[in-house]
Amino acid sequence: MPLSQFIKTEDFKKEKHVPVIEAPDKVKANEKVEITVTVGKEIPHPNTTEHHISWIKLFFQPDGDPYVYEVGNYEFLSHGATVKGPNTGAVYTEPCIKTFVKLSQPGTLIALSYCNIHGLWESSKRIAIE
Ligand code: FE
Repeated sequence: MPLSQFIKTEDFKKEKHVPVIEAPDKVKANEKVEITVTVGKEIPHPNTTEHHISWIKLFFQPDGDPYVYEVGNYEFLSHGATVKGPNTGAVYTEPCIKTFVKLSQPGTLIALSYCNIHGLWESSKRIAIE
Protein backbone atom coordinates (compact mmCIF):
# COMPACT_ATOMS: atom_id res chain seq x y z
CA MET A 1 0.00 0.00 0.00
CA PRO A 2 1.61 3.32 -1.00
CA LEU A 3 2.31 5.87 1.71
CA SER A 4 0.51 8.51 -0.38
CA GLN A 5 -2.77 6.76 0.46
CA PHE A 6 -2.37 7.98 4.03
CA ILE A 7 -1.64 11.61 3.25
CA LYS A 8 -4.74 13.68 3.88
CA THR A 9 -5.74 17.15 2.88
CA GLU A 10 -8.66 19.44 3.69
CA ASP A 11 -9.54 23.12 3.96
CA PHE A 12 -7.31 24.51 6.73
CA LYS A 13 -10.23 26.62 7.99
CA LYS A 14 -12.09 23.41 8.88
CA GLU A 15 -9.23 21.05 9.69
CA LYS A 16 -6.55 21.90 12.25
CA HIS A 17 -3.91 19.50 10.91
CA VAL A 18 -3.43 21.09 7.50
CA PRO A 19 -0.15 22.98 7.06
CA VAL A 20 -0.70 26.51 5.77
CA ILE A 21 1.98 27.83 3.41
CA GLU A 22 2.35 31.59 3.23
CA ALA A 23 4.52 32.85 0.38
CA PRO A 24 4.18 35.36 -2.45
CA ASP A 25 2.18 34.29 -5.53
CA LYS A 26 4.92 35.65 -7.76
CA VAL A 27 8.62 36.31 -7.11
CA LYS A 28 11.67 37.51 -9.01
CA ALA A 29 14.08 34.79 -10.15
CA ASN A 30 16.89 34.09 -7.67
CA GLU A 31 15.65 36.65 -5.16
CA LYS A 32 15.40 35.72 -1.48
CA VAL A 33 11.79 34.80 -0.65
CA GLU A 34 10.30 34.37 2.82
CA ILE A 35 8.05 31.35 3.41
CA THR A 36 6.15 30.46 6.55
CA VAL A 37 4.38 27.19 7.25
CA THR A 38 1.96 26.90 10.17
CA VAL A 39 -0.16 24.02 11.44
CA GLY A 40 -3.30 25.12 13.26
CA LYS A 41 -3.43 28.63 11.81
CA GLU A 42 -7.23 28.90 11.97
CA ILE A 43 -8.03 26.21 14.56
CA PRO A 44 -5.15 25.62 17.00
CA HIS A 45 -3.89 22.06 17.19
CA PRO A 46 -3.30 20.59 20.70
CA ASN A 47 0.29 20.75 21.92
CA THR A 48 0.61 18.21 24.71
CA THR A 49 2.90 15.31 25.47
CA GLU A 50 0.23 12.90 24.21
CA HIS A 51 -0.92 14.84 21.15
CA HIS A 52 1.16 17.26 19.08
CA ILE A 53 2.62 18.10 15.70
CA SER A 54 6.01 16.35 15.44
CA TRP A 55 7.34 17.80 12.20
CA ILE A 56 6.82 19.68 8.98
CA LYS A 57 8.68 18.98 5.74
CA LEU A 58 8.71 21.43 2.87
CA PHE A 59 9.30 20.42 -0.77
CA PHE A 60 9.51 22.25 -4.10
CA GLN A 61 8.35 20.75 -7.36
CA PRO A 62 9.55 22.82 -10.35
CA ASP A 63 7.05 22.98 -13.23
CA GLY A 64 7.56 20.04 -15.59
CA ASP A 65 10.06 18.27 -13.35
CA PRO A 66 9.13 14.65 -12.53
CA TYR A 67 10.75 14.94 -9.08
CA VAL A 68 10.25 16.97 -5.94
CA TYR A 69 13.10 18.49 -3.95
CA GLU A 70 13.21 18.68 -0.16
CA VAL A 71 13.57 22.31 0.92
CA GLY A 72 13.65 21.76 4.67
CA ASN A 73 12.84 19.45 7.53
CA TYR A 74 11.58 21.07 10.73
CA GLU A 75 11.17 19.11 13.95
CA PHE A 76 9.15 20.17 16.99
CA LEU A 77 10.72 18.38 19.91
CA SER A 78 9.39 19.86 23.17
CA HIS A 79 5.92 18.81 24.27
CA GLY A 80 5.96 19.09 28.02
CA ALA A 81 7.49 15.77 29.13
CA THR A 82 9.78 15.93 32.18
CA VAL A 83 10.86 13.54 34.94
CA LYS A 84 7.73 14.66 36.82
CA GLY A 85 5.56 13.26 34.02
CA PRO A 86 3.66 14.31 30.93
CA ASN A 87 2.66 17.96 30.46
CA THR A 88 4.81 19.22 33.33
CA GLY A 89 7.42 20.92 31.17
CA ALA A 90 8.27 24.59 30.82
CA VAL A 91 8.56 24.62 27.03
CA TYR A 92 6.37 23.51 24.14
CA THR A 93 7.56 23.86 20.53
CA GLU A 94 4.92 25.54 18.36
CA PRO A 95 4.31 24.03 14.90
CA CYS A 96 5.27 27.09 12.88
CA ILE A 97 8.38 27.74 10.82
CA LYS A 98 9.87 30.51 8.76
CA THR A 99 12.45 29.90 6.06
CA PHE A 100 13.93 31.59 3.00
CA VAL A 101 14.50 30.26 -0.50
CA LYS A 102 15.69 31.48 -3.88
CA LEU A 103 13.87 30.09 -6.91
CA SER A 104 15.05 30.13 -10.51
CA GLN A 105 11.99 28.41 -11.94
CA PRO A 106 8.26 28.52 -11.22
CA GLY A 107 6.74 25.58 -9.40
CA THR A 108 4.80 24.38 -6.41
CA LEU A 109 5.68 24.36 -2.73
CA ILE A 110 4.34 21.29 -0.94
CA ALA A 111 4.19 21.11 2.85
CA LEU A 112 3.75 17.83 4.72
CA SER A 113 3.01 17.76 8.45
CA TYR A 114 2.81 14.92 10.91
CA CYS A 115 0.58 14.68 14.00
CA ASN A 116 1.73 11.95 16.37
CA ILE A 117 -1.78 10.45 16.47
CA HIS A 118 -3.53 11.75 13.33
CA GLY A 119 -0.82 11.09 10.76
CA LEU A 120 0.16 12.91 7.60
CA TRP A 121 -1.41 16.07 6.12
CA GLU A 122 -0.41 18.15 3.15
CA SER A 123 -1.07 21.35 1.29
CA SER A 124 0.55 23.13 -1.64
CA LYS A 125 1.05 26.61 -3.02
CA ARG A 126 2.11 27.65 -6.49
CA ILE A 127 4.78 30.28 -7.01
CA ALA A 128 5.26 32.00 -10.35
CA ILE A 129 8.42 33.74 -11.52
CA GLU A 130 8.02 37.25 -12.92
FE1 FE B 1 -3.72 15.71 15.89
